[in-house]
Amino acid sequence: MDERSALNPALLRQLFELGLLSIEIPEALGGQDGTFFQSIIAVEEIAAADPGVAVVVDVQNTLVVTALREYGTREQQDRFLRKLAFDTVGAYALSEANSGSDAFALQTRAVREGDYYKLTGRKLWISNAAEAGLFLVFATIDPAAGHRGVTCFAVERNAHGLKIGKKEDKLGIRCSSTCEVILEDCVVHASNVIGEPGKGYKVAIETLNGGRIAIGAQLAGLARAALGHAIEYARQRRQFGKPISEFQGVRFQLAEMATQVEAARLLVYNAARLKEAGKPFVKEAAMAKLFASTVAEDTASQAIEVFGGIGFTKECPVEKLYRDSKIGRIYEGTSNIQRITIAKEILA
Ligand SMILES: Cc1cc2nc3c(=O)[nH]c(=O)nc-3n(C[C@H](O)[C@H](O)[C@H](O)COP(=O)(O)OP(=O)(O)OC[C@H]3O[C@@H](n4cnc5c(N)ncnc54)[C@H](O)[C@@H]3O)c2cc1C
Repeated sequence: MDERSALNPALLRQLFELGLLSIEIPEALGGQDGTFFQSIIAVEEIAAADPGVAVVVDVQNTLVVTALREYGTREQQDRFLRKLAFDTVGAYALSEANSGSDAFALQTRAVREGDYYKLTGRKLWISNAAEAGLFLVFATIDPAAGHRGVTCFAVERNAHGLKIGKKEDKLGIRCSSTCEVILEDCVVHASNVIGEPGKGYKVAIETLNGGRIAIGAQLAGLARAALGHAIEYARQRRQFGKPISEFQGVRFQLAEMATQVEAARLLVYNAARLKEAGKPFVKEAAMAKLFASTVAEDTASQAIEVFGGIGFTKECPVEKLYRDSKIGRIYEGTSNIQRITIAKEILA
């Protein structure tokens, strides 16, 4: 999948069959009635096998389903969550070419015409877009109102005027599709507004706060996998007549890596538990993502070193994990954006 830069459709079907794409959807709507913590564990475990596949599980459960559960009406939940539980992949379309970190500077316009809105704009970097059947699109109903114009729309794949544009050719998480989503007078019924018109910024902020914990889980899973590969290799690779795991230099390196991985996981679990308990978690979520992304990149890098030359080749899983790790410091808020959030919280 990494070489072909595509998700295996059979794997996607299995994810649906196993209920991994409907963890927090109520049983009555075809889901698993699970918890946020269970979504976090699923993302971590799948990321330990393939961080790219974990993106689908992450976006579906912790962004799209969460937004619909927390802000959707009963009718919207009935209409969309059923599909998401069964066979529909969700995508979350906030970013644009000129609005990444400054997300609410978005320019996609929504103009009301009777019972409908017409959406026009270009969304960039949209994960899952190639497979998605439902897009949560953030657009402004009033550009002069700044973030107070931002509105969240549920837009179905077959909506008139929605097109999938260029698919990015990426460094890592290559099986996860990342595409442009083009809206040209895209017709969306007013009943598809999620939350209130002009309150989409709340939907975005709240979902991304929780979503960051899931990205932390993805990176903690990745780091754990890199550590596991390094331990296994160190046990069997022999130099100077013994396994390299018997050299103190390698043992200490593995011990440091293991400690970092454990700390990253615990920060993620702590933030997830706080969220689940209904307690403040914004600072802890930002810390979990900031730390786990650093640990993932460092652990994957060190795992390559433990492997030596072969670690630098595509024969070894750690080469891919190293490439996959880089995105952790970029999406769902760059590391600087996490630092801004943490500083704001501790200095408040
Ligand atoms: C693979 C991939 C998948 C993605 N998936 C999605 C998705 O599904 N949906 C979606 O909506 N978006 C998605 N994104 C977009 C992602 O969230 C943005 O790329 C990210 O928020 C950064 O925005 P930007 O790329 O415009 O960088 P910029 O905002 O231009 O940032 C560039 C640099 O400037 C720094 N910077 C910016 N502002 C500040 C500041 N105030 N203080 C200090 N430093 C600052 C940043 O930290 C960064 O280092 C995805 C991106 C990628 C690469």
